[in-house]
Amino acid sequence: MVRNILGIILFKAFCYYLSLNTNKYLNIITSKNLSRDLLEKYQIECLKNYIDLQKNNFTNLFKRLDAKEIRSYSGLLKYLSLQKYSNKISIKNAVDSLYNRNCRLKKNKIIRETTGTTGIPISIYLDHENSSFQLMVRKYCFSWYSINIGVKEARFWGTKENTFKYRFKNFILNRKIFNFFEDNSLNNAKRLINYNPLYFYGYSSLIFEAARIFEKYKLTLPSLKAIFCTGETLFDYQKQYIEKVFNCSVAREYGCSEVDIIAFECKKGKYHIVNPNIVLEDSTEGCVITDLGNFSMPIFRYVLGDKLIIGLNSCSCGNQSPVIEKIEGRSISQKVILPNGKYLHAVVFAHIIEDLNRNIAPIIRFRVYQKSKLLFLFIIELEQIHENGIKNEIRKYIKSIVRERIHPKVIVNIHFKRIMPEPGRKYDYYISEIND
Ligand SMILES: [Zn+2]
Repeated sequence: MVRNILGIILFKAFCYYLSLNTNKYLNIITSKNLSRDLLEKYQIECLKNYIDLQKNNFTNLFKRLDAKEIRSYSGLLKYLSLQKYSNKISIKNAVDSLYNRNCRLKKNKIIRETTGTTGIPISIYLDHENSSFQLMVRKYCFSWYSINIGVKEARFWGTKENTFKYRFKNFILNRKIFNFFEDNSLNNAKRLINYNPLYFYGYSSLIFEAARIFEKYKLTLPSLKAIFCTGETLFDYQKQYIEKVFNCSVAREYGCSEVDIIAFECKKGKYHIVNPNIVLEDSTEGCVITDLGNFSMPIFRYVLGDKLIIGLNSCSCGNQSPVIEKIEGRSISQKVILPNGKYLHAVVFAHIIEDLNRNIAPIIRFRVYQKSKLLFLFIIELEQIHENGIKNEIRKYIKSIVRERIHPKVIVNIHFKRIMPEPGRKYDYYISEIND
């Protein structure tokens, strides 16, 4: 209790030290999430302002834009469609020219390093205003589950530094790092119980692993109020399993390191678009985002590549903000190359596994390697040890669907075993080994 109150105070002090304004933007975020209409009007004004401020800084980006001509939301989308796409590689190649030295920076700029599931490490520059805005989006989303930033957090994270600076930062932010892939012992679970967090935050696969250990040893966490999963696809059945084991709400976050949270799952299971500075476009490249709040480095028509379906109806939870009906895939690397040179989204494998899980046997996790255009390797981790009958049924089902969807002559190898993480990367269920 004391540590939670102290955590909230320390967090405020930390924000003050970094010149992060913790209250300024909360009103904007909550009011702009009221309705699609308000959000669209806000974004039109933001884009006009953005172009006016940036056209002299990044002349090669905005020369075809005249902000005065944007009068409606369809006009905004049309204007954006005239601009070039950007992606991790284009930002990485031009990082120095993209960084706007004249932006409204106070103190030092904030640099966010990211690799994502694409395996391409880049640096994103932010100013304090934008960083504050993103933080308030997070505060707003967590408040749906009665979580205040600064209370005790168990963070399920893959990478661990062991520097004093990192440990000190975790202490100030009132969080401890847990990783049940690296250590799935009862002792690690007891360490988590002794820590007694109010919420979990982290990679879906690591939280799922913790749930398995807690179920195995019949352990509980009495103070846990909510679990926020991020970074990787968490299927509905996995979410339900985590909810059952920890007896609390589980919400999925959709976002990326470049702009932080884009959408957040409400208690009715819908992803609400929560950051009004982010314009989402559904393009031939998949999901494309523009961050109208980043004046240090243009995240402009930035290709995320996930397939999104933006809903037209509002959610029954009472929040009027637009919702994403469906998110398929979590990275642009999920491209399955077909023998005829065309592509298929790797979500096809996720659908096969969901069918198997529903109809044949519970599956913990899976991974598919595309070795060549006609060779696939499936690794399946089953919840229980099964006799060969079930395994043969699974093999038969996978082969028939893959051959139907990809090519009749495709070779599919299927192994049943535990899936371990690959050092230095987030869990991704599909890995292509083809150089495209
Ligand atoms: Zn909702």
